[in-house]
Amino acid sequence: MFGSVDVLPHDSITNGIVEQLPADFDPAALFKDLLSPIIGEDVIVNGESQNITEKYERKIVLGRNIHTMFLEITEPDMDDEVTGEKEAYIASVLAKYKKSLTEKTKYHLGYPYNLDFDYGALSQLQHFSINNLGDPFIESNYRVHSRQFEVGVLDWFAHLWELEKSQYWGYITNCGTEGNLHGILVGREVFPDGILYASQESHYSVFKAARMYRMECVKVDTLCSGTTVKGAVDDLDVVIKKLEEAGFSHDRFYIHCDGALFGLMLPFVKHAPKVTFKKPIGSVSVSGHKFVGCPMPCGVLITRLEHVNALSRNVEYLASRDATIMGSRNGHAPIFLWYSLNRKGYRGFQKEVQKCLRNAHYFKGCLVDAGIGAMLNELSSTVVFERPHDEEFIRKWQLACQGNIAHVVVMPNVTIKKLDDFLNELVMNRAAWFEDGKNQPYCIASDVGENYCLCSLHRS
Ligand SMILES: *Cc1c(COP(=O)(O)O)cnc(C)c1O
Repeated sequence: MFGSVDVLPHDSITNGIVEQLPADFDPAALFKDLLSPIIGEDVIVNGESQNITEKYERKIVLGRNIHTMFLEITEPDMDDEVTGEKEAYIASVLAKYKKSLTEKTKYHLGYPYNLDFDYGALSQLQHFSINNLGDPFIESNYRVHSRQFEVGVLDWFAHLWELEKSQYWGYITNCGTEGNLHGILVGREVFPDGILYASQESHYSVFKAARMYRMECVKVDTLCSGTTVKGAVDDLDVVIKKLEEAGFSHDRFYIHCDGALFGLMLPFVKHAPKVTFKKPIGSVSVSGHKFVGCPMPCGVLITRLEHVNALSRNVEYLASRDATIMGSRNGHAPIFLWYSLNRKGYRGFQKEVQKCLRNAHYFKGCLVDAGIGAMLNELSSTVVFERPHDEEFIRKWQLACQGNIAHVVVMPNVTIKKLDDFLNELVMNRAAWFEDGKNQPYCIASDVGENYCLCSLHRS
């Protein structure tokens, strides 16, 4: 889950402006692409209302309809006695919810979120409306902020990725996606006609950015070890080398590194390719709720100070500068990050990363020993294996699936005991799924390569 995205000057590839549409231009084909994220909605195509699911069949299992289990909001009563009842009702809803969160946290394996933390010391701050709106480095006239924590966290990351204090700019975002949106926006501002190049297995937020900014976007083929879902890492050095070989000087491209998960893992893996601003990159982003383990979504973006001036505008009524994607910004998140980084330090993260890689190797070995096709990319703690045949089982363990594969992301809270429990349950269930020979394990050769597939065809 470390991808790089390049923006090249447009003229290097193509510089024509289309004035007339070709005769065989098919607007429906355009629609199909543009509308893909809103499956299930009715759209007008060529004057006809069509349902996207019918028209463009997809193998996507959407989540449950939330309206079968929502908690209604009712008007407060005039009468105090009944209000007491309502208080009791609200308290019981919350108590039940807390219990279910505890249970669901226990059975979670599929998303790269570290659920192991204790931020009890920060609960005293929940009574404040902390908001870092505007630029982290320019105090606004809203003074209930946490910029002192935010800048401390940014310094820590700038140091990790080797950019001088006087040369970086950055901020704490709402999530890894916002980091990508910002990095790509800066790239677009540096090269207004630039083309976005990204691995076709990049996280979907990269293509969302291309749509939002109406950028021309080229998807680059990948090896079958892939990126986001399979936990692979784009080789930054090869990307830079290819650009140089094609004759691009460093001032003619902008590379944004999407390090949502691996941005904080890779620096601590021996022999891993290094992401550093000593190389010609423009920005790096990481999610704060993934490896760090923040209880609310957040992220960090670091870019070069010189670039951000192209983007920012002064806003009089904030008395600050607008260089962020969002206006109001969560002021609690920086404090959680600051607390966690302070307590763990670079050495703490290194230990956690090593533990995760060890446990992932152990788990992958167990799967293969049990006859289950599995793959683990070097440098990664994301174990890819055949998709379980039962959606309930997938739901229980909250596995992320794509086609015939599922993955488990081994985070610091995923212990050997948890992996063993999962494996035992999987092995037991498989025996039942394949008992009468009607079902066969999925073939995952096209997802991960024949060598890692243990379906009936590739077993030998
Ligand atoms: C998770 C992830 C993202 C998105 O991050 P969010 O914090 O969920 O918005 C982007 N890119 C990669 C590679 C990721 O793993």
